[in-house]
Amino acid sequence: MARTESWNPWHGCHKYSAGCLNCYVYRIDRLSGRDSSIVSKTADFAKPVALDRQGNYKIPSGVTVYTCFSSDFFVEEADAWREQAWEMISTRRDLHFYIITKRICRFLQCIPSDWGFGYENVTVGCTVENQAAADARLPLFLEAPIRHREIHCEPLLEKIQLECWLGGWIERLTVGGESGENARVCEYAWVHSLRQQCARRNVEFYFKQTGANFRP
Ligand code: SF4
Repeated sequence: MARTESWNPWHGCHKYSAGCLNCYVYRIDRLSGRDSSIVSKTADFAKPVALDRQGNYKIPSGVTVYTCFSSDFFVEEADAWREQAWEMISTRRDLHFYIITKRICRFLQCIPSDWGFGYENVTVGCTVENQAAADARLPLFLEAPIRHREIHCEPLLEKIQLECWLGGWIERLTVGGESGENARVCEYAWVHSLRQQCARRNVEFYFKQTGANFRP
C-alpha cells in the first residue's frame, strides 16, 4: 500500500453546513478544552518542505499527503496562509496532495496564479452530505479546473440523487455514515442507491464506514 502522511497546515474551522453539526475536529478538541472555532497555523505548517539532517526532504517522494484534515483548506480564516501552502504543494510535485472541502464555492478565488487547469499532484474531494449540498456544490465542482476530482458523501444524511454529475471526470465517490456518540442515522438504502448510480456511470464507489448509527 502506498505510504501516506497527514499535513495540517492550520487547525480549526467554523461550521458551514449540515454535515458540520458533529464535526470530528470539534469532538476531539473538546476533550482537551480547545476552541475549534479559532483557526491557527500549526507547527507543521512547512512540513512538506521540511528537511532532515542530510538535507533530504523528510517526506520522501511518492507519498500521498492528506492535507488539512483538521480544518477546511478553503476556510476564510486561512486566506493569508494559503498562497504559501500552494507554493509548498507546487514545490513538491513528487508528492500527491489530497484535499477535501465543503467550500468548493471559494475554490476559484483561492487558487494560485499558475494553477492553470490544475496541478497534476492535487486531488480535490468535494463533500456533499445531502441533496441541497449536492445541488449547490457539484455544478461548481465540475466547472472548476481540477485534474483529479472525487465526491465525498460523508456524513451521508439522506438519500442523494447525483447521477447527473457523475462521469469520467469523477475518479471516485466515497460514502460514509457519521461517527461519534451523537451520530445521525445513515440508511443502507441511501448507500445502495449511490452505489447503483456509480455503477450506471462507471464511477468507482467506496463505502468507507457505516458510522455509529447505521440502519440496515
Ligand atoms: S467544514 Fe469540515 S472541519 Fe470545518 S466545521 Fe465542517 S466538518 Fe468541521
